[in-house]
Amino acid sequence: MQTLRRIPYYHQILSDMEQKGEQFVSSKYLAHFFHVDDTQVRKDVSVIGYKGKPKSGYSVSGLKGAIGDFLGINTENTAILIGVGRLGSALIEYPGLSEYGLKLVAVFDSNPVKQDKVIGGFTVLPMESLKRVIQSFDVGIAIITVPKNAAQGVCDLVVEQNIKAIWNFAPTQLSASADVTVRNENMAVGLALLSHYLKKRKAESAIFA
Ligand code: ATP
Repeated sequence: MQTLRRIPYYHQILSDMEQKGEQFVSSKYLAHFFHVDDTQVRKDVSVIGYKGKPKSGYSVSGLKGAIGDFLGINTENTAILIGVGRLGSALIEYPGLSEYGLKLVAVFDSNPVKQDKVIGGFTVLPMESLKRVIQSFDVGIAIITVPKNAAQGVCDLVVEQNIKAIWNFAPTQLSASADVTVRNENMAVGLALLSHYLKKRKAESAIFA
């Protein structure tokens, strides 16, 4: 796993430690979560640009703050969500989004049956309101939780409105112009990789049995 992929996990670990009232953390402790050595953790921390005290360890809140600045999650990002099905509803009600600096401002669905329903304090809006809302709230991120056959169309719609960051939960690879960042949260791919890994492990243990 590369540095950039470890950094958000450091943030999560430090948040948990902060909640437990712990003040210092060693690079060795952070390293054990990732099967790397403490030298690697110190390298990662230097990428973030945080100066720690090697003897007593890093300050939990100091390092967490520095990672937050590095990732840009200490400043609030405004987001909308499109597709208020089961996954979309769960995300709307998930308090973790705001903990990571994501401020949901509106949710949309093309199904008239869903419109006007209130989920997690949000009235579900029709797609026709998309343009108005994106412009008036200066929305930065679009979260896509529509089925896969609708996802590219929704992606195109939000990109047309100048959205530059997309968090896609539909199990499909979205294409957008190079200035748009698309983060695919593909559970199917995650599961396929795990299953491939398990299969490989089984084959290896059969060889060495
Ligand atoms: P439910 O059965 O309650 O709709 P679900 O999670 O099984 O839940 P999905 O078929 O995954 O539903 O669809 C997710 C949501 O996306 C639905 O609420 C659906 O109305 C909405 N949706 C589908 N196509 C579009 C679209 N093009 N634009 C906006 N929303 C859409």
